[in-house]
This record gives sequence, C-alpha cells and structure tokens, in this order.
Amino acid sequence: MERPRQRLRDAKPAAGGMSALPTRVRLLILAMLGAAAVGAAARFGEVSRWNGGDVLGLIVLAVATAISEQFPLEIRHGNETLYMGLTDSMWAAGLVLARPGVLTLAVAVGVYFGLVLRKVPGHKIAFNLGQYVLSITVAELVYSPFAGSSSTAFKLLVAVPVAMVAYAVVSASLVGLVISLAERKSLRQVLLPPLAVNSLHYAGNIALGILGAMAWQISPPGVLLVGFPLAVFYAAYRMLVRNLREGDRLRELIVENASDGIFVAAPDCSVVSWNPAMERITGRGADEVIGKNWRTILVSSEGVEAPRGGTGPCQAPGDAWFAPIVRKDGSDGWILCSSSTINARDGKVKATVIVVHDISAEREAEQLKADFVATISHELRTPLTPLKGFLSSLIHGTIDDQTDARHEYYQIMLRQANRLERLVTDLLEVSKIESSSALVTAPIDLCAPVVEQIRTFSEEHPSRSIVLKAPDSQVFVEADRSRVGLVMSNLLANALKYSPPDKRVQVTIAVEEDRATISVKDQGPGIPLSEQQRIFDRFYQIEDHLTRPNGGVGLGLYICRRFVEGMRGRLWVDSRPGQGSTFSFSLPLVHVASLTVNP
Ligand code: ADP
Repeated sequence: MERPRQRLRDAKPAAGGMSALPTRVRLLILAMLGAAAVGAAARFGEVSRWNGGDVLGLIVLAVATAISEQFPLEIRHGNETLYMGLTDSMWAAGLVLARPGVLTLAVAVGVYFGLVLRKVPGHKIAFNLGQYVLSITVAELVYSPFAGSSSTAFKLLVAVPVAMVAYAVVSASLVGLVISLAERKSLRQVLLPPLAVNSLHYAGNIALGILGAMAWQISPPGVLLVGFPLAVFYAAYRMLVRNLREGDRLRELIVENASDGIFVAAPDCSVVSWNPAMERITGRGADEVIGKNWRTILVSSEGVEAPRGGTGPCQAPGDAWFAPIVRKDGSDGWILCSSSTINARDGKVKATVIVVHDISAEREAEQLKADFVATISHELRTPLTPLKGFLSSLIHGTIDDQTDARHEYYQIMLRQANRLERLVTDLLEVSKIESSSALVTAPIDLCAPVVEQIRTFSEEHPSRSIVLKAPDSQVFVEADRSRVGLVMSNLLANALKYSPPDKRVQVTIAVEEDRATISVKDQGPGIPLSEQQRIFDRFYQIEDHLTRPNGGVGLGLYICRRFVEGMRGRLWVDSRPGQGSTFSFSLPLVHVASLTVNP
C-alpha cells in the first residue's frame, strides 16, 4: 500500500525556478526551510551519543528513502496530481526502530539526494525538504512521550498511528497552503477534493510501516515478508497507472486535435479544461481562462454573457444553442454549442462538457447571400425605374416631345440599359469564372479594345473628359480581346462613378520590356490602404449598398482580376485617400518579329 503525496506544483512547471514563483510562495518555502533547518540542527547535539547501529540505521533509512523517491506513482485525481511513494511507510517504521535524530537526518538526506537524482527543480526540492523534515519532526514530538515507557504493542498500535496522523496533517496542510497561495484558491478548495483518497493512502502506508516495524522486531529478515508482496503490489499498481495514463493520453490527444472547441466547466461555471480549438475560436488560451467563469468569456459584442438556462446556477442554456461571441482581438463570431453533463453517483452535476462549433464562416456566407440578394434587387430596380418612367411618359405624351429633348431621353435610357447590361454581364461572367472555363488568348492589338471602350463611355457620358495617352504604333499583347474590353469597361465605369463629374479620367498605355501596362487614373476620393486588397474580393464594397450613391454590386474588380490573371497578367491599384486612384493591369507583350515568323 502506498500513500499519495502532493508535491509543490506551479502553474508553469519548472519554468523560471524559484524566481518565477509569487513572492508569498517563495517566503513560505524559505520559512519552511528555516524551520526545518532549526529542527534538524537541534538534533545535532545527539550525534555524539550515537552508536554504530544508529549510523548504520541513518545510512539504511536515507538510502532507502532516496531509492523509493525514484519510483513515485503519478496519479490524476480530479484536477490534482497525486504523487504516491513508499517513503512514509519506512518513516512510520523508523519512528519505532530509530532514534528521532537518526530519522530526521535520514529524511533530510534521503529526500534531498532522492530528488536531486530525479532532477527535480531546486524550488521543489526546497519545498519538499521543508515539508518532510517539518512533518517528521512533528511526528517525532508527538511520538516521544510514548517512546520510553509504553509497551511495544501500545507503541505500534496507538503511538505510531497518532504520530503519523500528525505527520499527515502537517504534510498535507503545507502542500495545501502552498498550492492555495500559488493558485489563489482557498485552502478548503485545495484540501477537500483529494481528502478521501489522501486519507486512505496515508492509512495504508502507516499500516504498512507498522507491519514492517513488527516484522523487524520479531526477526529483521522478516521485513522481506512485508517487502516482497509490497514489491509485487507496487509493480502491479505501476502497470495499472501506466495503462490509465495511456488511456488519459489518448483521450487528451483526441480532445487536443479535435477541430471543434471542447471545454469542461465545473458546477460553479469555472473552466477546468480548454482545448486548442477553443483557443483558435476565441483567441484566448487555456492559461487565460482556466478557473474563470465561462459565461464571462463567451460574451457577445453587446457585452452580454452567454445565455443562461435551466435551474442550476451554472447550467448550460440547453442541449444546443447558438450564440454570438467577441474574440480576444475584438472581432465578432458565431458559435454553435452543445453541452452534456457529467453526473456524480448521487445525481449531482459534477461537470459540464461543452462542444463549440465555430459557425462564423457559415453566418458570414449567409449574411453575404442576404446582402447580395438585397444589392442585386436594388441594382436591377435602379435603372428600370427611369427606363419605365421615360417610356410611359413618352407613350402618354406627358413630357416635352421635341427632337432634342427626345434625343436626351434616349441617351438617358441607353445609359440605364447599358448599366443593366453590365450588371447582367458581370453576373454571367462570375458564374463562368466559378465554373473555371480557361481563357483562350491570342495576339491582339491592345489599343483597339481600349479605344473602343473609351469611345463608348465618351458617347454615354458626353460631359465627361476621358483622355488617352498611347504609343503611336500598335501594341501587341497575348490576350482575349473581349475580356480586355470588359476589364477596361469596369475600370472606366468605376473611375467615372467614383470621381466628381468635372474631373478628368486619364487612360495610359505604356510599353515595358515584356509587358504592356494600361492605367486608368481618376481624381476621386481614393481608397484607404486597409481596403486596397479587399476591393478585389467577390461582392466586396467599401460602402453600404443603401448609402452608396453610385450603384454596383462589388463584382467588377473581382471579375477584372480573375480575367487579367487568366491572361497571365496582373491587376493592382495605387491610391491614397483624397488623392484619387490609379487602377493598372499589365499583359504579356507579343513581339512583332515573332508575329511575322509565326503568324
Ligand atoms: P462596384 O460594383 O461596387 O463598383 P467593384 O468591384 O467594381 O464593385 O468595386 C469594389 C469597391 O471598390 C467599390 O464598392 C468601391 O468602394 C471601390 N472602388 C472601385 N473603384 C474605385 C475608384 N476608382 N475610386 C474609389 N473607389 C473605388
């Protein structure tokens, strides 16, 4: 039988050593070490009275302690890690068989070398030294009144258990105290959960110690009778623990690698475990959230806590629920949660496991779809309204029907019809791009579609000034003529749409070594740097479609970029707010020589 022993654990094990511990924990460890040193020093006076047997006893006990320190069993109990060793049973026997001073020094020397051999960090060694020397000193003090006079049976059956209970109380309290200081929990919170399992193991180890001491007193080789079954049990126990740990590890791996967030909350709502996917979803790591109330972590943008439900103080709102959240970086998201409870035997909720699925992308897509439908309806309706208005007025003769006026109405109607056509073309092109039909390119004179588009827009907007700067000769590029026309038409439409009516739009065709670059420069409001990549995304518009005066559905630039890239070219923007924008695209040049050799 072994007993559990909690050792000093800190939030970030071993990292930083003693200096990384909170000051109050460091002070406690130093105070314990000081008290233990005083206790041990008080024993030195006895050393002169020691005989050969005492020295041998010291060596045997210290070595046995150091050896048994090499084989601790680490057992998870709830959130606690219990370290179980055999040392206490030896010390219980030592109370009866060895002088108090021999036992104290054996504990100090054995624990020190045992932990150093195990490469335990310095601050933990310091704590454990203080803990054990103090606890065993208390046990010796409790035991000492019975040591001289009482009968062996009384010593074994009453004095040792009482002294070892004192030992257990001091030892467990010191561990509890340091954990409560390090983790800012109440002593009760730390001591109560592992109390039952701790008590059982302490009792087992004390009984074992008494058995060993009895065997020794009858005949020293009789200790082997206790030692052999103990070694067998220990080996079996170790195997069991290893299997349990492997099972734990497997479960941990599943939870750690799950794509959904999984966290466990205690009945008081505090987070007990938090997997990496939860960190991805919320932006908050386990370090930040363990011990905190999960409702205050999964809050929505209005600062509202996660929905409350059921009758319990911290019951989940149901089996499954949707909730908005704000991530650590301030961005909004949506989660779909489902919860299940783990109940104790008496039916009380022990913990709640909540699985969190990030549905932000789905919600965004839904929102995008809804926005798209709203925008398209608005965009289709906008040109239709004046078209219908002019047509019915002309039919009913309710407006000026002179030739000049009529010509102007037709111009307006043509503009609106063109706008409708562009919208429908954009929609059709997008669906074609999505079904990824490859572009077929051939050598074309770049100037032709550019000039054609400028002419169309100039006719459509006679009051606007569109200026072209192009080389005198033809510029041959590898491209699809109608696609180049479409790209130009989108860039020109945007330049006119987003710049004031009295400002000029300038188109330039420049020839470089192996590419030709077409730029459309306007004197509009410009585009903030943070938006300059996103405007090429599908359906992305800087302004809200309802507040935007210029129409459009956010598809133009997306289509342009896909077309230009499909022709092995590049499309980009240079812009600064307040200083206009220049959209440029470049296409691979075809040299005239290669055209004549290889028509
Ligand atoms: P839209 O049909 O809304 O114009 P685009 O894909 O053509 O869609 O453009 C996306 C967004 O980029 C527009 O909503 C607009 O805010 C911005 N944008 C495009 N061209 C210009 C420009 N020349 N000047 C300022 N902003 C522009």
